[in-house]
Amino acid sequence: MNSKLKHKIFYKISEVASQMQMETYVIGGFVRDLYLNRPSKDIDIVTVGSGIEFAKNVAKSLKPQPKVTVFKNFGTAMFRYKDMEIEFVGARKESYQRNSRKPIIENGTLEDDQNRRDFTINAMAFGLNKSNFGELVDPFNGMGDLEDLIIRTPLDPDITFSDDPLRIMRAIRFSTQLGFDIEAETYDSIIKNRERIKIISEERIIEELNKIMMSPKPSIGFKLLEETGLLKIIFPELQNLKGVDKVNGIGHKDNFYHTLEVLDRIVPNTDNLWLRWSALLHDIAKPTTKKFIDGQGWTFYAHNFIGVKMIPGIFRRMKLPLNEKMKYVQKMVLLHMRPIVLSEDEITDSAIRRLLFEASDDIDDLMTLCEADITSKNVDKVKRYMKNFKLVRQKLKDIEEKDVIRNFQPPVDGELIMKTFKLQPCREVGIIKDAIKDAILDGEIHNNYDEAFAFMEKKASELGIKKPN
Ligand code: ATP
Repeated sequence: MNSKLKHKIFYKISEVASQMQMETYVIGGFVRDLYLNRPSKDIDIVTVGSGIEFAKNVAKSLKPQPKVTVFKNFGTAMFRYKDMEIEFVGARKESYQRNSRKPIIENGTLEDDQNRRDFTINAMAFGLNKSNFGELVDPFNGMGDLEDLIIRTPLDPDITFSDDPLRIMRAIRFSTQLGFDIEAETYDSIIKNRERIKIISEERIIEELNKIMMSPKPSIGFKLLEETGLLKIIFPELQNLKGVDKVNGIGHKDNFYHTLEVLDRIVPNTDNLWLRWSALLHDIAKPTTKKFIDGQGWTFYAHNFIGVKMIPGIFRRMKLPLNEKMKYVQKMVLLHMRPIVLSEDEITDSAIRRLLFEASDDIDDLMTLCEADITSKNVDKVKRYMKNFKLVRQKLKDIEEKDVIRNFQPPVDGELIMKTFKLQPCREVGIIKDAIKDAILDGEIHNNYDEAFAFMEKKASELGIKKPN
């Protein structure tokens, strides 16, 4: 008896398997995760025969009876039970054609079904019939690979990867998530089959990339993608960050490895996928803006602005959302140097107000990004920055408490300017509006209606605009 299969649901499934006289197993990620002590709520059941009929009967045996969703085209069925998602499939044999990752499917045995799995650690199954309840069926020694922390395909990797190149991304993703090594032959085959990734949709690729991003150490995945030559196919902008140019013996830092360090450094401080993406993209325009200037060395002038411009293209191609999430990443990239510059100069109230105004509610995230961005090998330098950052954070807090700038709207807006001077929308309205905002942020006037109104009148008169009688 396997003490790992404690949950009652497995006994229920076992009973139905006996009644229907169907050979049944729990297989794949659930079994793997049991041994890795990663509690999983996704359970995959494979049965020799119709997975759909089997699922319906299991559902009938449960109280309350869950609603079964059937995917006829895939020959699968699933239901949710308590906090679990249970998927049923009939054991199958798959054969592939060259131009598609959609296989031709036939009914098969458990062995056929295990052969179609991607990695040895994902091909293990526990028997659920009375005769073999809880017995591990592990034809490829997945258990050995789990112990040795190895990702390996069950069959010839060239066939496994060529059949379904998504598995290439999955290999790298599992290696990153679990901290496993990819076995040598499997690794070589990834390199050999990398061009096949082009038949995989961007949606599937980004799903795996996002899982890499959410791993404890995403750099593992990006280094693997780079070393295997996949990165230049799926993410050329990131590939371009790699390398160091030299002029007169002076080099700059390798922005690929710097970026990965920033990404790893931000991970313990945020679970926000989009802040992690901001870390990945913060220097994305460094290659295009790179210039060596005598007397100054390497410069990356305006790389934040150009980075902001590159982001929609990257997001569109990679099928990332083109909504407020992208805007947030753009904002982070735009502002990523500001707190650092601030901390280098004498910190004025006005500079702090401006930063608060521009970053608004995302100011804490921006500070998190900036702190992760300090990757110098020079310990003293890092210490100095961190100390200054503390000061910037404190000042941000003080000024916000005093002036409430975060979601600040100037007390006199464009509407009021137009109404007061009987103006149509025009350039002057914008000039007056900006001047009021600047006066408040610079501390020239306070953030209230009366002072803003008086300032508006003064500014209008300077521009030669008269108040109508
Ligand atoms: P995670 O839930 O972290 O994605 P998982 O291994 O449970 O991990 P699923 O995508 O739910 O991943 O897949 C369940 C099982 O189906 C896997 O463990 C594996 O046996 C098999 N599998 C999934 N995708 C593939 C594939 N592209 N090729 C071969 N087998 C696959």
